[in-house]
Amino acid sequence: MSSPLLMRLMASSVRAADKAADLVRKIMKGGDLGIIDKGGLNNFQTEADRSCEKLIRATLAAQYPKIKIIGEEDEETDASADAKCGMAEDVLSKQCPDEYKDVTEEQIVVWVDPLDGTAEFTQNLLDHVTVLIGIAIDGKAVAGVINQPFYNYKAGPDAKLGRTIWGVVGLGAFGFQRQELPKDSQIITTTRSHSNKLVNDCIDSMKPTDVMRVGGAGNKVLKLIEGKAHAYVFASPGCKKWDTCGPEAILHSLGGKLTDVHGNTLRYHADVKFPNTAGVIAACSDHDWYISKVPQQVKDTLKP
Ligand code: AMP
Ligand code: MG
Ligand code: MG
Repeated sequence: MSSPLLMRLMASSVRAADKAADLVRKIMKGGDLGIIDKGGLNNFQTEADRSCEKLIRATLAAQYPKIKIIGEEDEETDASADAKCGMAEDVLSKQCPDEYKDVTEEQIVVWVDPLDGTAEFTQNLLDHVTVLIGIAIDGKAVAGVINQPFYNYKAGPDAKLGRTIWGVVGLGAFGFQRQELPKDSQIITTTRSHSNKLVNDCIDSMKPTDVMRVGGAGNKVLKLIEGKAHAYVFASPGCKKWDTCGPEAILHSLGGKLTDVHGNTLRYHADVKFPNTAGVIAACSDHDWYISKVPQQVKDTLKP
């Protein structure tokens, strides 16, 4: 008997993200990134953003025609494109959590960030870059993939490049190793290219021992789940639903939490506004403590 829809979609998303990662590496190797400035602060699009979104849309639409797909670059979906990329067997071998066994295509929205950390991609900070696919069911982030196409790129020419992390709430997350956080430390990870006074005021109120400024929402959630940072703090409206859906699902599958600065859960229905206007606070543990430290002025400024 075939696996439930959620696990098949997850298995297809893992493969689609793998293919997209191949494409990102190919485009980087080709040398012409085709950079377009979308306006605002460090807000770029490259050939990799455009072609990866087309690939992911075509792949998923061909197999799951009734699922709504929302992508950052708003590319056309060409469901007739030759976009077969199969399903990841390791995903299909896992049990679907009971509560998601009977989900239908109509209940699902897939959020795609074909390249997260584009500003860093254009600056050759390659390990900040990820491909993100998030699966929301009835508006809740339930499953996700974070593919890091240039993982290991500093380890030398023989190192295997890239890795895939995926997870489903109620099942767990796979493809990474967790380490212990250093004792007596309080490490906060945040933006490196979209900082402002509000972002820094919010971090200061938490009195961290270290601030790790790295690109990408996917990359920052990786820092949390691998035990390299305690919290991801971004008190600013620039981060969007495609940035958070997949990473949030993976973090939640491990018992962590991602919300806005007020502690509200984010919603991912097809008709929600794209920006996370009330910012992002995420942590593997002690999430409530971080919310309690958000200054009132930050809360007053950032409305859900
Ligand atoms: P960062 O932590 O700066 O890498 O941001 C995480 C995600 O939010 C990335 O996809 C960014 O492009 C997006 N983002 C955050 N702030 C802004 C902004 N001011 N303008 C456009 N995109 C933003
Ligand atoms: Mg992004
Ligand atoms: Mg992007």
